[in-house]
Amino acid sequence: MFAFEAAHQLPWHAGKCAGLHGHGYRLEVTVEGPVGPQGIVLDFAEVAEVVEREVVARFDHTYLNDLMDNPTAELLAHDIWKTVEAAGLTVGRIRLWETADSMVEVTA
Ligand SMILES: [Zn+2]
Repeated sequence: MFAFEAAHQLPWHAGKCAGLHGHGYRLEVTVEGPVGPQGIVLDFAEVAEVVEREVVARFDHTYLNDLMDNPTAELLAHDIWKTVEAAGLTVGRIRLWETADSMVEVTA
């Protein structure tokens, strides 16, 4: 489980998300692949290193609207998927929580 804090606003939103506010995002990244000769798919440390460097470091303590036109949880999750795959990992699922009980899931 990874975490980052970030601000955003969704001007099209009819409710309170139109205003500037922040979230403590929680992120789960699942990778896929065959089990190799050493009995693992991928070292957990390698997954963590990629996600921390490519995703958490990029988003943590930012204003997400500076990075994306419409930073909804759904579009963030798709962006994270593409970013992790571009770093060489085969993604099987992304789960992104905006709040303790609001989560989006992207699967292959
Ligand atoms: Zn929000």
